[in-house]
Amino acid sequence: MLFEGPEPGTLVQYFKDDASAFNNQKRGIITGKGVLNNRISEFLMTRLAEIGIPTHFMRRLNMREQLVREVEIIPIGVVVRNLAAGSLSTRLGIPEGTLLPRSIIEYYLKKDELGDPLVTEEHITAFSWASTHDLDEIVQIALRVNDFLSGLFLGVNLRLVDFKLEFGRLYTEDDLRIVIADEISPENCRLWDTRTNEKMDKDRFRQDLGKVEEAYQEVARRLGILPESGPADLKGPRTLQ
Ligand code: 5GP
Repeated sequence: MLFEGPEPGTLVQYFKDDASAFNNQKRGIITGKGVLNNRISEFLMTRLAEIGIPTHFMRRLNMREQLVREVEIIPIGVVVRNLAAGSLSTRLGIPEGTLLPRSIIEYYLKKDELGDPLVTEEHITAFSWASTHDLDEIVQIALRVNDFLSGLFLGVNLRLVDFKLEFGRLYTEDDLRIVIADEISPENCRLWDTRTNEKMDKDRFRQDLGKVEEAYQEVARRLGILPESGPADLKGPRTLQ
């Protein structure tokens, strides 16, 4: 959810506990999800900025909000896949967990009423959703993010199976840059434990596997962003007197 920000050109991104899947056909609440994803996305966007990958993230404001740059959203969800899972497995009959011969990038048109259909570069450029130049930059960024995040997650025994990025155009005085928008968290990544293959992401909600909040907490803990004293510290402001 986005709100007007404190200065022109900024927005406040609010992280809810509401969860939905399968184009809103499945709905629920994952307690604490918003707080955890706010932290996880802050952490990952900050690490990406450190290696020169531009994002819309400016800073985290509080438990559930972050300040982001206002961008012109490109209406395409960009999915990067390393192992077969989800819609790729269903659509092509490739068993879940199959290592793909190379990382595969897919584009989905962001249109709820159509269920975010898969589209090709041809559709994207013909309908001017993005230019060839935009797409070149998007692919370069998506592959760098994949390499970097795959390594980062592997370091904490999580396999980055696939993930979805959103991109926006950021206009500055004399420049136009493509930057990563939205969030990066277990909400839009598939993360499997390298030792047990346990799913540690939104598939726990999609597939009714239970312990969704615990999985998100475990991802945060492994990344070193859950306070030592445990998740109680992340619940919200405390009354001191
Ligand atoms: P699939 O196409 O297999 O359903 O999803 C591929 C990857 O992109 C998964 O990591 C999934 O979480 C993410 N993804 C794709 N579309 C969406 C979406 O509309 N919302 C969210 N949260 N994640 C998505």
